[in-house]
Amino acid sequence: MPTEEIIIDSAMSFAEAIEGSTAPLEIIDSLSMIDVNYYSFDGLRHQGQIVVEARLEDDVYEIFQLIEKLKFPVGKVIPIVAYRWEDGNSMADNNASAFNFRVIADTNKLSLHSFGRAVDINPVQNPVIYPAGLIAPAGATYRPQNKGTFIAKHPIVQEFIKRGWHWGGNFEQPKDYHHFEKT
Ligand SMILES: [Zn+2]
Repeated sequence: MPTEEIIIDSAMSFAEAIEGSTAPLEIIDSLSMIDVNYYSFDGLRHQGQIVVEARLEDDVYEIFQLIEKLKFPVGKVIPIVAYRWEDGNSMADNNASAFNFRVIADTNKLSLHSFGRAVDINPVQNPVIYPAGLIAPAGATYRPQNKGTFIAKHPIVQEFIKRGWHWGGNFEQPKDYHHFEKT
């Protein structure tokens, strides 16, 4: 069987993937980085990396296996250090990521991303929509019929929920369609 060509989107060491994070050491020590394979919007198979809490490693790895099997397109999966820890830049680039020691936008509460317990996928197809209508990333639109978009009954959303995760599309407000978290 010929091996299918794979495009490497990310090939960092763990040290590189946490470089410059302001997270305390006990959080850094609880993290793990996994390699994931997925088809991107170019129809080609890619390899990326994602940093999550070590205890959630199996969930995230197995969900990405389902993502690959279903050929659900994922923009890219690169540790957010590549975006200087700026979630806005990562979202605008349609990047999927998890660990980022930061507060929830416009609050002083630590996000579950701070512990690697939240995963964002395809922010451009699945933006966050605030009650006043503001959308992030800017210019994105949520169109459920588009490829790479999550809806409540999507098998990937269902797989997260089966494993005890919450989907941001079910949040009262804001609607955070790209966000999955395990509390
Ligand atoms: Zn998120």
